[in-house]
Amino acid sequence: MKRILSLYLFLMIIFFVITTHGTTETGSIREKYKVIIVGAGVAGIGAATHLLKNNFSDIAILEASNRLGGRVYTAEFGDFLIEYGAQWVHGQGGNPVYEIAEHYKFLYIQTWDMGKDFVKHSDSKINMSAVNWLFIEAVQFFGNANDMMLCNCSVEHYFNNKFNELVKDNNIDEYTAQAVADHIKRTQSIRDGAGNLDEEGSWGSAQYFWPNGSFSVAWKNGYHSFINMLMGKYEGTELPLEQKTKFNKVVQTIKWTGNELEVTCEDGSHYFADHVIVTVSLGVLKVSAKTMFNPPLSESKLAVIEAHGFDVVDKIFIHFEKDWWIFNFRYKITFLWTNEDKQRFKNQSKYGGWTTEIVFFHYVENQPRVLQGWLTGDTARLMETLTDDEVIGAVMELLNWFVGNQYSISQPINVTRSTWASNRFVRGSLSFPSVKSDRLGYSAANVLAEPILFNQTPVVLFAGEATSEKSYASVQGGLETGWREATRILNL
Ligand SMILES: Cc1cc2nc3c(=O)[nH]c(=O)nc-3n(C[C@H](O)[C@H](O)[C@H](O)COP(=O)(O)OP(=O)(O)OC[C@H]3O[C@@H](n4cnc5c(N)ncnc54)[C@H](O)[C@@H]3O)c2cc1C
Repeated sequence: MKRILSLYLFLMIIFFVITTHGTTETGSIREKYKVIIVGAGVAGIGAATHLLKNNFSDIAILEASNRLGGRVYTAEFGDFLIEYGAQWVHGQGGNPVYEIAEHYKFLYIQTWDMGKDFVKHSDSKINMSAVNWLFIEAVQFFGNANDMMLCNCSVEHYFNNKFNELVKDNNIDEYTAQAVADHIKRTQSIRDGAGNLDEEGSWGSAQYFWPNGSFSVAWKNGYHSFINMLMGKYEGTELPLEQKTKFNKVVQTIKWTGNELEVTCEDGSHYFADHVIVTVSLGVLKVSAKTMFNPPLSESKLAVIEAHGFDVVDKIFIHFEKDWWIFNFRYKITFLWTNEDKQRFKNQSKYGGWTTEIVFFHYVENQPRVLQGWLTGDTARLMETLTDDEVIGAVMELLNWFVGNQYSISQPINVTRSTWASNRFVRGSLSFPSVKSDRLGYSAANVLAEPILFNQTPVVLFAGEATSEKSYASVQGGLETGWREATRILNL
């Protein structure tokens, strides 16, 4: 009798495995899901939670790294938390991140002291009394969407034309003009994620949708709390997102024959699905789009992946013994350089002078002793290759050059930095419309977002911030694209 019972139990288990996860193959279970989501950044999480909330639970997320969040990456450092990736909620009205998070009272509006914390070297020829005015006038050029669209050129070209006119009409001296233009362009590079504004297209950039309200809404307990919100952690009805996620699964190929998809990972595991939502970054697609998909992607998709912009923005965090800056700077220390100043600094630098590209250092929320600096493009890629000691040495050299004779700069205790370019699961930081993608003559994001159909049914779907037409390079953009593709599946 016992034997019969055991056999019965065994058969029941086999039956359960088959009905929930397809059929068994010799020696291994063939894991099959209705939907597989590749990537557990905010787009993947957005898609998964939207499906789960709609009682669509036959899903799995394959995530290459060992954590949720992707470019939302909160970590402990210094006295509290830092953000390696997304930091602020940009805009309130019309921004779903703000609308969700506001309910939990986890946000506050940060006050930036625009234009008040500029510093120059004591020997510099910059006329500080003209800096604020020029900065405030010139920074507004980027808010003029009509002019940017009409120019249909690079953002660098657009800005230079406008700026030169402004400088000429107001008799601004060349040193002050150089310093302000250099600062504005580097700040814009960070904001747009384009290391070189010569590559950024003014037409595509002008299409961006800026939600209303404050640009700098900060998190009391880190951006990761937003991921917790999406998962329902604060509601007491947590969605089984972590259980549905398989970590350290680097998807290598996605193959479809008919309407069945086979997803193969680097570790040799295979998963099967009816639909796959791909949410990997444009940086990852640039490297792997030609080998990841079988049959290959269309020519137009590959052209957009190649042409659309994706560059790096990095952050450096330095933890000091004391908050030596606190009475001297309201929020940030913004470095102004003329070409001549840069050359002088580089000539005497022990570290090659790469810190001339750090736009500013600013305070970090709830971190009394940490300063955060920003850089982009090739300099960011270079910084990622340096040792901690080299980074600390170079930053101290920079700070001493600017303010060492006025303030007693305390010793740095520790440093950490983001390494988005060398992170092979992201390969950069933000997507942006490039001059090349503007020239293709259609919305690159829309082409990227087009699903691959079989018999009129979407089999491979694309989400992720770069597939957002008007909110790319943002958390809300990533989230909305995840919702968009989940809705596409729910509507089938
Ligand atoms: C430095 C920095 C600052 C930023 N600041 C802000 C800000 O202040 N406000 C704002 O709104 N936005 C900001 N952003 C942008 C925002 O973080 C992103 O737009 C958003 O998080 C992108 O989400 P995503 O899901 O599209 O992509 P990702 O977060 O890149 O998610 C993709 C996921 O796919 C995984 N993956 C990659 N390859 C594979 C593979 N082969 N197999 C399986 N999984 C894979 C990755 O590990 C990752 O988890 C910032 C980004 C950076 C880097």
